[in-house]
Amino acid sequence: MQYRGVPGHEFAGRVVESQNTSLRDKRVVGEINAGCGRCATCSAGLARHCPDRTVLGILGRDGAFAELLRLPDANLIPIPDSMPDDVAVFVEPIAAAYEIFDQVHLARNQTIVVIGDGRLGAIVALVLKGEKCLPLVAGHHREKLARLANLGLATAEESSVRDKFDVVIDCSGSGSGFRRAVELVRPRGKIILKSTAAAAAEIDLAPIVVNEIAVIGSRCGRFQPALDALTAGKIDPRPLIDGAFALNDGIVAFEAAKNPLNFKILLKAT
Ligand SMILES: [Zn+2]
Repeated sequence: MQYRGVPGHEFAGRVVESQNTSLRDKRVVGEINAGCGRCATCSAGLARHCPDRTVLGILGRDGAFAELLRLPDANLIPIPDSMPDDVAVFVEPIAAAYEIFDQVHLARNQTIVVIGDGRLGAIVALVLKGEKCLPLVAGHHREKLARLANLGLATAEESSVRDKFDVVIDCSGSGSGFRRAVELVRPRGKIILKSTAAAAAEIDLAPIVVNEIAVIGSRCGRFQPALDALTAGKIDPRPLIDGAFALNDGIVAFEAAKNPLNFKILLKAT
């Protein structure tokens, strides 16, 4: 997105200023896409795809690695008092994982593989497990796969996977993820691309045609299903947290986040 500004789009916070008095002082999470509110896309309820949208910490709108941020009232969703901040910060990525259920009918007897054992793959896999769709997580990091196995997920070294799956979800974050997905999907199966890295790779589309594969791009999702699942205890993302740092220690926090063995690092603004 060529973005310059304050990064950060996964947050939980408290409303300090709003025209809407019922929001003031509420603990909230926030939809990160702010549409123009006037175009046909916004009118159709798809502000996430508004051509003139701003996106928190990603496009034209300073993000959450700060004491204060601004979002429209309509983007803010109060969270239950019982939900701790270190759970609420996961609403955004969990909503992105739930987007898959809005796009594709996933039956519980379908075979699903998640390519990638990073933070995105881990969250997508935990959401699938929370919905009783039991995926295989295929990755390269033995330590991370062991941690995910401890959370009750089936895991495998990616290069050892030979089966064909009904649904392949690419969370690899690498250009080769799509090619691997094509290898692992059965004829008439579905590939869900969660990783924009595939865009940069050279891709042979012939197998997509020959095997009649559906390829579905998947990005942000509605917050409510994620909030509901977290409130109901279907998913506990906290085992993915590997550290929490004060905002003043942001540089140290970034170093920790760059460690490929860490899933999630939190920043505390206050
Ligand atoms: Zn719009």
